Amino acid sequence: MSQTQLLDDLLNPLIKPALLLKLSNSEQAEQASCASKFGGLPYAEANETWASCPTCKNELTFVAQIKLPAENSLHTFFYCFDCFPWGFGDEEKGQWLIRSYQNPNMANYVAIAPSHVSEYEISACTCTEQSVKTLPDFNDLEVLSPEAAQIFSENDRYEDYEVAAAERGCLTDYATFIGGYPKWIQSETTKVCAICGDEMAFFAQIDSEDNADVMWGDSGAVYLFRCATHKNEFALELQCY
Ligand SMILES: [Zn+2]
Ligand SMILES: [Zn+2]
Repeated sequence: MSQTQLLDDLLNPLIKPALLLKLSNSEQAEQASCASKFGGLPYAEANETWASCPTCKNELTFVAQIKLPAENSLHTFFYCFDCFPWGFGDEEKGQWLIRSYQNPNMANYVAIAPSHVSEYEISACTCTEQSVKTLPDFNDLEVLSPEAAQIFSENDRYEDYEVAAAERGCLTDYATFIGGYPKWIQSETTKVCAICGDEMAFFAQIDSEDNADVMWGDSGAVYLFRCATHKNEFALELQCY
C-alpha cells in the first residue's frame, strides 16, 4: 500500500467539518443581530442586563457572538480584559460569560448596553462563514490514532503532518472557527463539565483578530468548550506564545 493510500485510510475518517469565520469591519455590525459577529451591540432578550466582573467590578466587554446554524442557537461571549482570565480553576466565576439563546429572533431582542464606553472596545466586524475541514492537532493525533502519528518521521513530523492535512483540504492556519478540532498554541487540554464531570466538547476557537482589535496576550487564542448534555455549560482556555 502506498503511503498516500495509508494516510488516506488513517486520516480521512478523522476529518471533522468546521465553520471558519472571516471578519470584515462593518458599521452594520454595530447593530444587534442574530448573526455571528464581533463587537457592536450583542443580541439580548428580556430581563437581561450588562454583566459586570465579580472581581474588579468593571463591566465586561462584549467580544463576539457565535451562531450555530445546525441547532439555530446563538452564543454571546463577554470577557474582562482587566482581570484577563486564562481559564484556570482558581479564577472567580464570572470574569467571562457566555449567554446562549435557542432560536434567537430579533422580535425577541431587547437592547442592553454598557453604562460607559469600554477602553477595550472591539471594532465591529461582520463574519463570513465558510465550511472547512479540520484534522486533529499532531499531539491530539498521537492519542486518537497512534498508528497514523507514527507514520510521520521524528524530525519534521509537525511540518509533514501539516502538509498531509493541507493535501486533504484541511485548515492548517490559526483562525477563528466553530467546531472541528482545536489548533493549539500550547499543549492540548481538556475541560470537564462543572455539573456532570463529563469531558466537554470543543466548541470554538477565537483567534486574535486585527480587524476587530482583539488581542489575546501575545497573538494568542481563546478556546471554548461546551458540555454535550448541559448545553449552557462552557469552559474557556486562553493560550498564547
Ligand atoms: Zn475583572
Ligand atoms: Zn454536563
